[in-house]
Amino acid sequence: MRCTHCELRNMKLPGTAGGLCIPCYALERQTAPRRTSQGMTLANFVSDPCMGCGSHAVDANGWAFWCDACGMQVAVAYPDS
Ligand SMILES: [Zn+2]
Ligand SMILES: [Zn+2]
Repeated sequence: MRCTHCELRNMKLPGTAGGLCIPCYALERQTAPRRTSQGMTLANFVSDPCMGCGSHAVDANGWAFWCDACGMQVAVAYPDS
């Protein structure tokens, strides 16, 4: 399944209008920050390359994002419904 935004990369994460690849998810999070049920804005750690170590060895499975190079792993927030 291709990313619904760029249609170039495989979808990895949930977006507001469908599945997104990692770069498009990061872009969506920049323009529309997601909030927790407590109303707190979540920091976005999803990026390609990894913002922690700069590696492209990043992947995601729809509910988590991780970097194989530095071992960072974060849970991914779902869009506001
Ligand atoms: Zn995309
Ligand atoms: Zn990393």
